[in-house]
Amino acid sequence: MSYQSVNPYNGKTQQTFDTLTDQQLEAKVAAATECYKVWRQKSYAERAVIMARAAELLHARVDEFAKIATLEMGKRIDEARAEVDFSARILTYYAQNAERFLAPVKLDPTQGEAHMESSPIGLVFCVEPWNFPFYQLARVAGPHLMAGNVLLIKHASCVPQCAIAFDELFADAGAPAGLYTNLFISHEQSNKLVSDARIKGVALTGSLEAGSAIAAKAGQNLKVSSMELGGSDAFIVLEDADLDNAVKWAVWGRMYNAGQTCCAAKRFIVVEELADQFLDQFQTALSALEAGDPMDEKTTLGPLSTESSLTDLLKQVDTAVAHGAKVLIGGKRIDRPGAFMQPTILTGVTPDNPAFRGEFFGPVAMFFRVENEDQAIALANDSDFGLGGSVYTQDIERGKRVASQVETGMMFINNIDWTDPELPFGGIKNSGYGRELGNMGIQEFVNKKLVRVASLSAPQ
Ligand code: NAP
Repeated sequence: MSYQSVNPYNGKTQQTFDTLTDQQLEAKVAAATECYKVWRQKSYAERAVIMARAAELLHARVDEFAKIATLEMGKRIDEARAEVDFSARILTYYAQNAERFLAPVKLDPTQGEAHMESSPIGLVFCVEPWNFPFYQLARVAGPHLMAGNVLLIKHASCVPQCAIAFDELFADAGAPAGLYTNLFISHEQSNKLVSDARIKGVALTGSLEAGSAIAAKAGQNLKVSSMELGGSDAFIVLEDADLDNAVKWAVWGRMYNAGQTCCAAKRFIVVEELADQFLDQFQTALSALEAGDPMDEKTTLGPLSTESSLTDLLKQVDTAVAHGAKVLIGGKRIDRPGAFMQPTILTGVTPDNPAFRGEFFGPVAMFFRVENEDQAIALANDSDFGLGGSVYTQDIERGKRVASQVETGMMFINNIDWTDPELPFGGIKNSGYGRELGNMGIQEFVNKKLVRVASLSAPQ
């Protein structure tokens, strides 16, 4: 296995990297173990100096970082720049707030006094995906390093230059050796690492398949873990929605990052009264997107991350059609070099179609027409995933009622799943468990220790 940087815009291989030998991996784990002994003793203020410096450097190097992402996984350059800036904001957020989030919490026992304190647990192993090649790294680095843990990171094999850039960022920010370590390792080596007694926690963001494999290994070894997996978010349009606003969010929600977002809108559920108008406007807007060089700011449709992502997605569409779905628009690769897929809308996806319970990780929307709000909620909940979702209505109280009834980790009213450093991110069901970001995100890999003081007599 090797880590390969291939530009999906033209199929050219940029660079190939070998995986670590077992001896090289051992040396990195040993360095992380040594680093933890020192890092855990540092004050929050001392940790924050390095984190804030990393954030500053990221802001200063936005273009350099953004270009690497665009080159390796085809993200449109303006989206890549926004991702780099956002990643820096996450680091800053934890530099500024970690101490407050992890401050001792006073308890009220009937006798004596007690508090809970939060301490780091040690080496945390993180397996990360390519679709947000910097943001995903910031989501673990910000909270867990500020909590006093040290990180070993296995990034996706198609974004090795992004992986190296983030590792170097921390070195440039003055991080001690072993604090943040990128690992080019195989799945087999990852599995072994999860079982290694020196690893105390495991965080994975990726597919259901990868999550199940790594979570099983973590469970077998009694390691605390968090899993941020796939989704098939419902986008519910009620009859009193502002249609123009809903269509704009629909296009953005399905097409941002060329549709390769875990919490993208994937199932469009529209109440009968607005269904034809919505579909008409949605289809027109999707058809207007133009494929082009993702390095060019004028491009509105970039390639998928790899040729294999494209062929897998095309197969998924063919399977859906073989089971009765209709292709309203798109469904094919775009006739030009690069991993480009036509924006696609599928209708007539019935519950017996494998597409109904699957995840389209690219520009493929499933459209469903329902009679009313109750049917919309029932359909939204008829999913194995439970990441996010959104609802469009001009009646905010109604929107909140619907949001409460949809079984997911996140719901958005009149806007779509977006992420902020302050807001916890994560799902339920096959979308995984645990939360990243916000105050909750920093609590995942810390020891919550009870300390009690009481003048009690020992029982005789
Ligand atoms: P993937 O194949 O699961 O890859 C994600 C990471 O897991 C990569 O680093 C990959 O390494 C690694 N991996 C895969 N199988 C593994 C195994 N058996 N053992 C150890 N490591 C393994 O996912 P993807 O297709 O690249 O990413 C898309 C998926 O991620 C979608 O389902 C998406 O919804 C989900 N996602 C979820 C979130 C969230 O926050 N909930 C965010 C982003 C993406 P290699 O590259 O070396 O295979």
